[in-house]
Amino acid sequence: MTADTLEALADVEAATVEVHDVHKWYGTHRVLDGVDLTVRPGEVTVILGPSGSGKSTLLRVINHLEKPEIGYVSINGELIGVKRQGERLKELSERAILTQRGRIGFVFQNFNLFPHLTVLDNVAAAPVATGKLTKPEARELARELLVRVGLADKTAAYPRQLSGGQQQRVAIARALALRPGVILFDEPTSALDPELVGEVLAVIKDLATSGTTLVIVTHEIGFAREIADRVVFIDGGKIVEQGPPSEVLDKPRHERTRDFLSKVL
Ligand code: ADP
Ligand code: MG
Repeated sequence: MTADTLEALADVEAATVEVHDVHKWYGTHRVLDGVDLTVRPGEVTVILGPSGSGKSTLLRVINHLEKPEIGYVSINGELIGVKRQGERLKELSERAILTQRGRIGFVFQNFNLFPHLTVLDNVAAAPVATGKLTKPEARELARELLVRVGLADKTAAYPRQLSGGQQQRVAIARALALRPGVILFDEPTSALDPELVGEVLAVIKDLATSGTTLVIVTHEIGFAREIADRVVFIDGGKIVEQGPPSEVLDKPRHERTRDFLSKVL
């Protein structure tokens, strides 16, 4: 392996994520209503909340797949999607946004793998497309990452030949290939058959214990209790309460949190 590839494999500095007073509307429908959130380097934050409460929108705002009407997001102090110009925020170019997005991993509910690429090339594609690595280097890195997620024997397979759990592990390896400072997970196990949930949670747990900054939307309460440094409960586009799992999950202070937990537990 080349020195460059080895460097690409080295641990990345975990990022700080700051969400400042974010408001988001779809038409007249207010979906995020003044969300403030800080995720410190290496912290695992689990976001819980009922369907339609704005969880996916919050992750999409952090990744600048959606633009908030008010507020902003910064990662390691760098504003995502905008820059300050005097008192105003000015939008960055599409190109600059893509560069920023390359530092944020995103794992979707439905895997979103490229169906026409092998597992190896699904993982190797982004570092090549963004000019970070040559194709041979990216493939070398992809092999290492596929070992890490337990899929060393599937490099030549196509996504359709894999189980949902295997596809989601490929998606996690693909997110890691860009050496992100933070990885966002949007209900990573909710499209899986129950017997496949554990293998995906095990990979996420491995990342959590290796010090990566993670923000995870999930309804897996047991998993949240095990790995979260902080649990954030969101309802109606607002953070209702947040704190360590021992508080939010075991001694929730708000009726809405209690009500939600009684339904999912
Ligand atoms: P959650 O992930 O918590 O289930 P979402 O963030 O997906 O919630 O959605 C929050 C609300 O915003 C829902 O009422 C949803 O219908 C609405 N919504 C989400 N995306 C869009 C969109 N692109 N256009 C209009 N409404 C949307
Ligand atoms: Mg959602």
